[in-house]
Amino acid sequence: MRFVDEFRDAELGRALAGQILATVEPGRHYKVMEVCGGHTHSIYKYGIDDLLPANVELVHGPGCPVCVIPMGRVDDGIALATRPGVIFTCFGDMMRVPGSEGTFLDAKARGADVRMVYSPLDALRIAKENPAREVIFFAIGFETTAPSTALTLKRAKAEGVANFSCVCNHVTIVPPLRALLESPDLRLDGFIGPGHVSTVVGARPFGFIPADYGRPVVIAGFEPLDVLQAIQMILRQIADGRCEVENQYRRVVPYEGNLRALEVMAEVFELRPHFEWRGLGFISQSALRLSETYADLDAEQRFGVPGVRIADPKACQCGEVLKGGIKPWECKVFGTACTPEHAIGTCMVSPEGACAAYYNYGRFAREREVV
Ligand code: SF4
Repeated sequence: MRFVDEFRDAELGRALAGQILATVEPGRHYKVMEVCGGHTHSIYKYGIDDLLPANVELVHGPGCPVCVIPMGRVDDGIALATRPGVIFTCFGDMMRVPGSEGTFLDAKARGADVRMVYSPLDALRIAKENPAREVIFFAIGFETTAPSTALTLKRAKAEGVANFSCVCNHVTIVPPLRALLESPDLRLDGFIGPGHVSTVVGARPFGFIPADYGRPVVIAGFEPLDVLQAIQMILRQIADGRCEVENQYRRVVPYEGNLRALEVMAEVFELRPHFEWRGLGFISQSALRLSETYADLDAEQRFGVPGVRIADPKACQCGEVLKGGIKPWECKVFGTACTPEHAIGTCMVSPEGACAAYYNYGRFAREREVV
């Protein structure tokens, strides 16, 4: 298949692995963060780790949209879902994220009308088909999915669909990266930039990383050769003494981003002063809410939500995983009390979560190592 097979070529993969080996300085340890959960998934699925020299370490970042939703937001959503007459809609992986009283699936089992949708437009269709019911869409995601929510809200407004509203949990990628770079505990040598987010925001917003923090960034696609080439480009920059934003994913990511998508987002959303991220705490101006013009479609304003902050379970170390502080298997409950079927933390729920990716693919390699 075009744009897939040529990025999975084993010979080219071996050649890139050879270039990486030739680029690194023996005795120096390199720590590279893959920001996006999609990259984490590719790394484990294709065994990219196994092709790297022992002194090149990959750590996971905060770019899994489901993983960063705090328990309090799930509780807020469940409070809305259990209101009489409400049809509550969300994406499939969000239905299994635990709040303090269980998940949306648990709320559904208790009688709430919670429905999985593939897009916000599905939720809008349900609202039009059920004019006597209030239909709420629980929106999540980085800048990748925010434009589709924005376009749906624009359409709802234009068509006067009065029984449709949205709980906006959209987050933005730059503030958590800045927070990580400010952290004294984490030493990183470079970043594999988030390919999906960059299709919308472009490469420009990541310029602060080399400019303010002296770290290279390479925006990358999601096939195994994309990720390997991005790692090679980061290490090449370090070896050459360069530090800049490079775009490995030029077949998809324009430098300026998708201007139409950015325009629609700017019309429908505004920045929240602060937002809580699971395991990372409150980060200023790191999330979106509906702008004044769209306030009538804001479910939080229309119905009110408890807005209570709930601490993560004691056993949960998702925050450390999301900051690249520990590897998934270092969490005490990994693969025992916490599995994809019975997740304690969010990183085990979404396929993009580091714990789920490692549980599904990486643990086999580790088991082989131990044997
Ligand atoms: S194993 Fe479970 S609790 Fe531990 S970090 Fe991963 S998702 Fe969180």
